[in-house]
Amino acid sequence: MEDTIFMKIIRREIPADIVYEDAETIAFLDVKPAAPGHTLVVPKKPVQNIFDVDDGTLVAVMRTVRKIAPAVRNSVGAHGVHINSNHGAAAGQIVFHLHFHIIPRHDRNEFSFWPQHDSARSEFVTIAEKIRQLLG
Ligand code: 5GP
Repeated sequence: MEDTIFMKIIRREIPADIVYEDAETIAFLDVKPAAPGHTLVVPKKPVQNIFDVDDGTLVAVMRTVRKIAPAVRNSVGAHGVHINSNHGAAAGQIVFHLHFHIIPRHDRNEFSFWPQHDSARSEFVTIAEKIRQLLG
């Protein structure tokens, strides 16, 4: 895996506003926040995304997400958080080092992350069957 900007932050080669760190994970403020307090949670192990991460690393990252989410929310007087993660360029992933965004939310009408559409019943049936098949 290629070196990423997040590995440079982990190694303290470039500055970041680090808010939490343990043996397996680190969390720091996003340099271009969607909202004030926008925080990224990152494993220290260099994995790209959900398609190559091992269970232990993912558990460690999610443990940190759960641990720090209340402090991220309360730091800006927000009422909720949006936890988002992009996996693959097509999904908007820019930094190919697994990370979860914790974005404070004050009001559900501030902004929305994705469109929602009605879909034909037959499409649900076909896609659900395909996923079950692929899972074996
Ligand atoms: P992605 O689109 O890959 O899910 O999001 C990557 C995030 O990393 C973006 O929100 C971007 O603002 C953030 N980011 C990119 N480079 C840096 C950096 O050097 N420092 C910090 N703190 N965040 C960064």
